[in-house]
Amino acid sequence: MTNAELFEKAKKLMPGGVSSPVRAFKAVGGEPIIVSKAQGSRLWDVEGKEYIDFLMSWGPLILGHAHPRVVRAIEEQARRGLSYGITNEHEIKLAELVVDSMPSVQMVRFVSSGTEATMSAIRLARGYTGRKYIVKFDGCYHGHADSLLVSAGSGVATLGIPGTPGVPEEIASLTLVLPYNNPAALEEAFEKYGEQIACVIVEPVAGNMGVVLPREGFLERLRNLTLKYGALLIYDEVITNFRLSRGGAQAYFGIDPDITCMGKILGGGMPLGAYGGKREIMEKVAPEGPIYQAGTLSGNPFSMVAGIATLTQLFEENPYERLEKLTQRLTEGISRILSHKGIPHRINRIASMFTVFFTEEEVYDYETARRSDRELFGRFFRALLREGILIPPAQFEAWFLSTAHTEEDIDRALEKIERAVSSL
Ligand SMILES: *Cc1c(COP(=O)(O)O)cnc(C)c1O
Repeated sequence: MTNAELFEKAKKLMPGGVSSPVRAFKAVGGEPIIVSKAQGSRLWDVEGKEYIDFLMSWGPLILGHAHPRVVRAIEEQARRGLSYGITNEHEIKLAELVVDSMPSVQMVRFVSSGTEATMSAIRLARGYTGRKYIVKFDGCYHGHADSLLVSAGSGVATLGIPGTPGVPEEIASLTLVLPYNNPAALEEAFEKYGEQIACVIVEPVAGNMGVVLPREGFLERLRNLTLKYGALLIYDEVITNFRLSRGGAQAYFGIDPDITCMGKILGGGMPLGAYGGKREIMEKVAPEGPIYQAGTLSGNPFSMVAGIATLTQLFEENPYERLEKLTQRLTEGISRILSHKGIPHRINRIASMFTVFFTEEEVYDYETARRSDRELFGRFFRALLREGILIPPAQFEAWFLSTAHTEEDIDRALEKIERAVSSL
């Protein structure tokens, strides 16, 4: 069957034909592809068409698709049982790898997704501080838990409005939404609500309004204010853990949060999330403490062995410098191609993740990100797809490279991107 035939069938069976909204390609137009397999830097649809993949499953696959070491670990585990519901030795090994990589994380709790990690971290912060307000930033995504789906109101410290039907106002009103990279707004919110704020949750590098880097001093201000007012600082490192460096964004910038949320690369492509932090905070989690959180498949051996294999390979290879250079080669090439065609653009990049915005101005928060020409992005996406390049099917997302991408892949991709752009 073709992509179109299968998608028609899917739409009758699943809302939008998908298990997660952006996969329906609604933001970019055109028919979505249906995947049949992937290997290394390549992915194939059900019609046998090959793509160079820069989506990389939205970030987890820093070793590329189906890395032999990860596949072997999963195959070996399959013969030893799929799930036990009792602690297995792999959990302890992966916890050790996490704790050794991030000094701010002294204890860790495994869950099954990034959403569960942030949701549980918020509960922990509220339970630990006995306060109820949380602060998040406009354009940051922390999974789909009710209190984190709140989007922006305008102005400075706006009380949240529900970002989606189904989230009651009473819940949304406990989430304060602030503009990213704006220390003045932060200061104002703390002056007003300081004593009632349980935590601030932040992507230390935003990846979900497209890649947006923290401006000089923003993360420092955040750390100082949370300490001053006794609120916990939660880093949502679901994208950045093991992506920016072995120690994530906190090592990259040299600032420790109180709680860290993890996911994506941590599970190497298997469903996995985790939250961790200082011992005195994590000791409040059940059964050691009173704050409840549980999961039938939490710590399941597949996610554990995939995570261990991924991190072990990553630490042995230490590919961060090579990945950075490779990604730079790609972004410089894209910029050259777009400039040549006279298309205004901004590329925000850090390590091996980046976003191409179609705007002349600097992109430093959600408002400036929204100035990107999304109609043009849609045409850019579709032209790339036709040439056999898969990138995230939405403007406000990150492209990812993996260790499976070679210089030849990048040069080939640039040829295809050049052809695609000349057709715009
Ligand atoms: C992907 C993501 C999440 C949610 O993780 P899921 O595994 O999709 O639930 C949370 N926070 C950030 C920063 C993410 O990028």
